Amino acid sequence: MTIFKAITISIGDELLSGKTLDSNNAFISKQLDLIGIPVIKKMIIGDVAADIKDSLDWAFSQSDIVTLTGGLGPTHDDITKSVLCEYFHVGLKLYPDLLAALKDRFARRGFKFSESNRSQAEYPENATLLHNPMGTAQGMHIQHEGKHLFVMAGVPREMEAVTTGQIIPLLSILTKRFISKIDIYSIGVPESTLYELSKPVFDEYSNIKIAYLPRQGMVNIRVSFPSRSIEEDHALSDEIYARIRILKPKNIYGRDEEELPVLIGRLLLEKQATVATAESCTGGLVASLITDISGSSEYFQSGFVTYANATKMSVLGVQEQTLLDHGAVSEATVSEMLTGTLNRSGADYAIAISGVAGPTGGTEEKPVGTVYIGVADRVHQNIKRFQFGKDRILNKEMSAFSALNLLRLLLEETKG
Ligand code: AMP
Ligand code: MG
Repeated sequence: MTIFKAITISIGDELLSGKTLDSNNAFISKQLDLIGIPVIKKMIIGDVAADIKDSLDWAFSQSDIVTLTGGLGPTHDDITKSVLCEYFHVGLKLYPDLLAALKDRFARRGFKFSESNRSQAEYPENATLLHNPMGTAQGMHIQHEGKHLFVMAGVPREMEAVTTGQIIPLLSILTKRFISKIDIYSIGVPESTLYELSKPVFDEYSNIKIAYLPRQGMVNIRVSFPSRSIEEDHALSDEIYARIRILKPKNIYGRDEEELPVLIGRLLLEKQATVATAESCTGGLVASLITDISGSSEYFQSGFVTYANATKMSVLGVQEQTLLDHGAVSEATVSEMLTGTLNRSGADYAIAISGVAGPTGGTEEKPVGTVYIGVADRVHQNIKRFQFGKDRILNKEMSAFSALNLLRLLLEETKG
């Protein structure tokens, strides 16, 4: 089997000067990666004919697939098409249908059609056009000595439409390497621990690729493998997920579309139960994450942001003596926040959080990053002390996700 490799090239002076950040190469590499085609190099070059030709020479010598974006507009700095004609020693071919459509488009908008716009209907003779549903510059596929060149407009949404709509399906057929993937989500386990735990399982499969993708104290494990049939792919995904999840069921919680906010939404809907939140250091982030999910009005009751001690007392009924004896960041306070939340909202489940987000405000006993997180229903109460780091925003995010995970565990424990 041929192993295909790709090189991506972005053209544009504004990309070199840093005025515009090159996002096209990144998008294309991600899409190619999903179908198992590695990008081995990325290039950014200016709107300079000689540089475009040199990089094509070089890219063709190193890889089987080359993508080129930018310089396809109708203005003087858009030289890609004429450079391609010189490079491949071909002329431009006029597409009368495209020209008619262009003129029609201009007429409908009340614009005068100028000759420079005619170029949007002309493409190198050796190109097969790739339909661009987002604009007038069509994509191109040029085959050259057994290699494949794909050319697209630089405008990101046009490039994205042509890549996902045309190039990826074409390459999937060409390479016969459509890749299936699973994303497995974990929280509260370091990447290295996850790696050591899961390695023996993954080692049993010969044809899979594993990536550990850490973010905000959570790690996603992405597993990809060559696709066979839909049934076989599902069976293998389910098997791998079940075997990995059982390694750490408290921390490995979901897969694919079911990230924590989605997952707790489903669990609450299954129980026809509601939740309310009382947040101090997270300032409403938990409520925000829950309500990011469409349909959350079915299960999200209310969110109290009780930042000040006075508000913890007046809104949630936390006792002054509790705050004096234990402080706001304590198990006792979170316990009363939970009870108050259940009583005052009428919800079936409650989440409460109180912590030191930092970077100031820490003490020896409760350093920055100390967070008490609790979840409760009418019968159970589970409060845990977490020790996060020094970064305020990261602490808020980790607290919020850890709270959702605790609720997930309570919902799963009390299932059925
Ligand atoms: P062009 O096709 O060169 O006329 O580019 C059209 C628009 O897309 C311009 O605003 C460019 O700045 C933008 N653009 C071109 N290439 C890229 C790229 N690689 N990443 C992000 N934006 C780009
Ligand atoms: Mg340009």
